[in-house]
Amino acid sequence: MKFAMIGAGAMGLRYGILLQEAGNDVTFIDTWQPHIDKIREQGGVYVMRDHKDRHLTKIKLETPESYTGDPDMFIFFVKQMQLEDYLKRCAHLFNDRQYAFTCMNGMGHIEKLQKYFADDKIIGGTALIATVLPGPGEVDFMGKRGAGMMNMCPLNEKPDEMTHRLFHELEKAQMHPTLTDDFTGTLMTKVIFNSVINTICTMFEIPMGEFGNFPGAYQMGRQLIDEAYDICARAGIKLVSSRDEEMAALDHNTRIDMPLHYPSMYQDMIKDRPTEVDYINGYIAKLGRKYHYEAATHLFVTQAVHLAEFHRQNE
Ligand code: NAD
Repeated sequence: MKFAMIGAGAMGLRYGILLQEAGNDVTFIDTWQPHIDKIREQGGVYVMRDHKDRHLTKIKLETPESYTGDPDMFIFFVKQMQLEDYLKRCAHLFNDRQYAFTCMNGMGHIEKLQKYFADDKIIGGTALIATVLPGPGEVDFMGKRGAGMMNMCPLNEKPDEMTHRLFHELEKAQMHPTLTDDFTGTLMTKVIFNSVINTICTMFEIPMGEFGNFPGAYQMGRQLIDEAYDICARAGIKLVSSRDEEMAALDHNTRIDMPLHYPSMYQDMIKDRPTEVDYINGYIAKLGRKYHYEAATHLFVTQAVHLAEFHRQNE
């Protein structure tokens, strides 16, 4: 398949390079100039696995203005607050035949994609795959080859031939996809998961295992999970996991799977970039308001992360 990756950051590079290695034609589109300059100067991206085996991988890299290709599918991996600008700059590249796929965290991106792509051409998903961009021109794939997993679902919940082709290519790339049948439930289950780990580890600047091993982790997590699940019940959103399953997944992910990993939200904060908290806990609280439910803990946590950002920026 022919893919254009919108965003050559941590996840764009992980998906794009693994799809390229699985035999697909992949071009990356990015706008961060120091990253573009470094990749051009090096003749590719330095790829590591868990900080080791640093090697140069050649990639095709363009900007929205220089790209002239006509891919089967655009894969979006930018931060929520960058998406609108990328869509505007790439609008001239889109046509009715192409698909848009994304496993970005948070909520708000699908409505933005709908302004440029028809509903039957949008495939959403979630990725439990940890990747770090230490700096311009290099990427660290956390975990062994084939580590992590992901869910995907077309927006209209009717998988077509292109959905199955994408699924097959993602399987070949060892991303371990699962095709789910409830679009909003799939995305919201991951938003709720992130609303616990990403935010708490970011505001306290701790790796995931330190939260998982904290004796009060269950109580903190459960409070956020209960609020979010109550809101989803009011909104009629069918989540993929039960509350207990979500708590068990949080426990496993923090203590067993990735105890040394700092979530991507933390990576943004330490680089003085804005975090996606408004699209995660902030989104849950906003959804709550719509259904007359005051998500006090999510509101508090959203502001606590903003306070951590504010503190960093004023240091
Ligand atoms: P990223 O920050 O690595 O890259 C996104 C964009 O930001 C790219 O265009 C990149 O070039 C640019 N960028 C990176 N560092 C920058 C800097 N210092 N200054 C200016 N621009 C910079 O983002 P990502 O981690 O690939 O995340 C993309 C989406 O995927 C987000 O919604 C994220 O929450 C989600 N996600 C990330 C991970 C992960 O482990 N990284 C896992 C699952 C989901």
